[in-house]
Amino acid sequence: MLRHVVATSLRAEVTDLLARLIRVDTTNPPGNETAAAELLRDYLAESGVACELYARVPERANLVARIPGRGDGPSLMLLSHTDVVLADPAEWSVPPFSGEVRDDEVWGRGALDMKNQAAASAVATASLAREGFEPSGDLIFAATADEEVGDGFGLSWLCEEHPDAVRCDYAINEGAGDRLELGGGVFYLCSTAEKMSAPFRLRVHGRSGHAAMPAIADNALVKAARLIERLAAFRPEPQLQPEVEAFLRAVVGEVPAPISVVERARAVHPAAAELVEPLLAPTFSPTMISASQKRNVIPALCEIVVDCRLLPGQHPERIEPMVRAVLGGDIDYELEWLAPEGGTRSPLDSPLWDAVEAFVSQSEPGAQAVPICTAGFTDSHWLREAFGTVAYGFFPARAMPPEVMAQLIHSADERVPVDDLELGVDWLRHAARAVCG
Ligand SMILES: [Zn+2]
Repeated sequence: MLRHVVATSLRAEVTDLLARLIRVDTTNPPGNETAAAELLRDYLAESGVACELYARVPERANLVARIPGRGDGPSLMLLSHTDVVLADPAEWSVPPFSGEVRDDEVWGRGALDMKNQAAASAVATASLAREGFEPSGDLIFAATADEEVGDGFGLSWLCEEHPDAVRCDYAINEGAGDRLELGGGVFYLCSTAEKMSAPFRLRVHGRSGHAAMPAIADNALVKAARLIERLAAFRPEPQLQPEVEAFLRAVVGEVPAPISVVERARAVHPAAAELVEPLLAPTFSPTMISASQKRNVIPALCEIVVDCRLLPGQHPERIEPMVRAVLGGDIDYELEWLAPEGGTRSPLDSPLWDAVEAFVSQSEPGAQAVPICTAGFTDSHWLREAFGTVAYGFFPARAMPPEVMAQLIHSADERVPVDDLELGVDWLRHAARAVCG
């Protein structure tokens, strides 16, 4: 019953839509995102927005909606995913799929990751449509399935099977928006790049034997321990990427020599040092190991898996000689890269960046937008890779401190302040007008 159209404000409208969206359990696996896609479709259709569902399997639909452009101006996608991670009700103070509104916060799984932004994107799109907004290029709303697991039902599948539905010049996705107070300044992070996840496996060879007589064997586990120590002690030479340079210019006031970056950032605020440190070089974290299946058998083989994260633009083939140099030539091992993923960036000099910057300074005078490269993977990667889309992760959060948000995402009692939902709707409406108005 046109419930949202008569809502007294966009604030009330987005609060109601998010609560309803949370009540649709889209825990992935199995996902069941179709119910969420249909809810959003019905909501958008009431405001006259054209919607289309795309599904590889019926129960895991993606929704793509659009306000068609009046010409061939730039297109902008408001991107979100509808699936969420598991919630154990025993850990929560409210049922995780209740969508309860309490103390001006909406509670439930997905309230921060990322049904909040899905609801705000839908409300921004619907409200612009009701106002008769005619973008120069298409304004696209996409709510996709299967981001949290990535089994090929969501945006990667759409880019491959339905490229015309999701091709866009610009996109706003999740990834950042945190408000940081650093050394007297206020900064909003905007994610413009992502590190590449490039795990590898080392198979270390030795010779088996009875564990009571170690001298006659060659223990692969002991040899592997030496390789682990070398990796752990390795400090690759720091280098400055464009996002880090821009961050330093804003936060430190200049771009220090790579070697002193962490120290200079720490002098401003420890959080600034924590942010930039993993962005200066590839990182190598050995995380898994397996060797003998029997206590009294010395293993002839030991396998180590290393979680390796490369800077955007770095590739496993180019890094491998450096890894081998660190591991040394005295131990017999094989190195195998395991499904690298991500590692793309978008330029900082773009109309979308101008929109982020303008919104931040308008909504909080004195505050500055700063770019950041994130360590995690988001769907932005697929758009950059398929279409060269300028994709940023930006959904500003002012009411909830970033350390609280970080604790709640993928955790119990996830919730979002209504003030931040409203700020998000403002941002997305601003961006649509600025980029394709
Ligand atoms: Zn997410």
